[in-house]
Amino acid sequence: RPYVAADDRYQRLDYRRVGTSGLLLPPISLGLWWNFGDNRPFDTQREVLRHAFDHGITHFDLANNYGPPHGSAEENFGRMMRTDFKPYRDELIVSTKAGWDMWPGPYGKLGSRKYLLSSLDASLERMSVDHVDIFYSHRVDPATPLEETITALDTAVGQGKALYAGISSYSPERTVEAVAIARDLGTPLIIHQPSYSMLNRWVEGGLLTTLDEHGLGAIGFSPLAQGLLTDRYLGDEPVERAVDRGSLDEGVLTEDNLERLRGLASIAKQRGQSLAQMAISWILRPGGVTSALIGASSTQQLDENLAAAGQTDFTDEELAAIDRLAGD
Ligand code: NDP
Repeated sequence: RPYVAADDRYQRLDYRRVGTSGLLLPPISLGLWWNFGDNRPFDTQREVLRHAFDHGITHFDLANNYGPPHGSAEENFGRMMRTDFKPYRDELIVSTKAGWDMWPGPYGKLGSRKYLLSSLDASLERMSVDHVDIFYSHRVDPATPLEETITALDTAVGQGKALYAGISSYSPERTVEAVAIARDLGTPLIIHQPSYSMLNRWVEGGLLTTLDEHGLGAIGFSPLAQGLLTDRYLGDEPVERAVDRGSLDEGVLTEDNLERLRGLASIAKQRGQSLAQMAISWILRPGGVTSALIGASSTQQLDENLAAAGQTDFTDEELAAIDRLAGD
């Protein structure tokens, strides 16, 4: 049966402006880093993606290397584009990135023009789209002149293969340089994608202010610290992970840290939230980021997480109590 999106999909979330740009994003965006590779059933992926769009999530974030294996998340998303989302292409913000290792040899990683532009072409092909909405430099390449990297993003925009440009995990200093180059070229560099959670606050050391000063928006990735900031580790037996994440060290779950998580969960409970919901609400609080970029392996997780968007105000007492338990 062909997919028909829910009629009330735009009545659920308040969309937020990305910096001073014309682009709005949902408060909660869905990333396809894990759970959309070839190791997960397509039907489950489809269920989660449909559910997300039906509930107002208009933004799906990818990268060339998401999977596993590399490229497969984009391929699976491409299948979704063909079977389900094609009529809705103009209602979607699809992003991809290049920067981390993608293919062997010197042209399959980092920040050269050679790598970025060929990688974007391959991403478009895999995703069955003729453009992405945002194309990111996925990380700083200290050895390539920043002019070259930003000019490559500008070329992608000039070719109509990307509508906006973004940078990910750039320091405040590099961000300022990147913005200056983009301004000179007239590149719509409008968004920064940093990691941000109650347990990881590096963006508060200048990045958020810098973005604000220059009119850029921020989309914070891993607000749940890849699943640590949820109830899944707080029961007698941890809830099993959907995929074994090589990126997550569960060794950090010492008794001391579990005690902190329990403390945070009890603050959440007083707010009428789960720990996951409070973690998402917290990065969306006033002064926080434009959008929270989450992962999810089920529609249940999505439903739980989506509810966080409606409760982004915190009292000073709550913020102080959170800081006592979770700082970095
Ligand atoms: P999160 O911190 O949101 O972690 C998501 C994981 O937490 C889920 O996959 C799930 O684990 C678990 N989870 C989610 N909701 C719940 C819940 N309600 N209860 C219990 N467990 C829950 O984000 P990710 O680390 O997945 O990153 C999100 C996105 O950010 C990526 O997909 C990617 O788009 C982007 N990203 C960008 C990076 C960059 O360099 N620019 C780097 C990393 C991420 P399980 O799957 O085991 O069920």
